[in-house]
Amino acid sequence: MRSWFQRFMSGRYGFDQLGGFLCIVSFILVIIGAWVSPVLYWLGLVLLIYCYFRVLSRNRSKRYSENLKYLSVQNKVVDWASRYILRFKQRKQYRYFRCPQCGQQLRVPRGRGKISITCPKCHNQFIKKS
Ligand SMILES: [Zn+2]
Repeated sequence: MRSWFQRFMSGRYGFDQLGGFLCIVSFILVIIGAWVSPVLYWLGLVLLIYCYFRVLSRNRSKRYSENLKYLSVQNKVVDWASRYILRFKQRKQYRYFRCPQCGQQLRVPRGRGKISITCPKCHNQFIKKS
């Protein structure tokens, strides 16, 4: 039984991070869709079929490059989220501004009154209440 499965899976792509993500999302969509709307339910089933298609696919290089794209998007999302979580944790100590000239985000300590801020990127100076 096991050797049959190994022979069946040889040369096929198998499971990766994108596969896991698709599996979880399709599972959630099917559960929510069963309660809320058939559109979500069918979308979940389509995602699940796509997930199986990827696992059984023999075009390994294409699946690999899809996974790399997914990982880079995932990294961006995790970076963005962790930056906002940090910002939320530090909201009592720091204020955040954007440089009016270049748009660089700047962090200054709170409660120092009116201060002159120099952008470290473009050296533009502006005055803000901290
Ligand atoms: Zn600037």
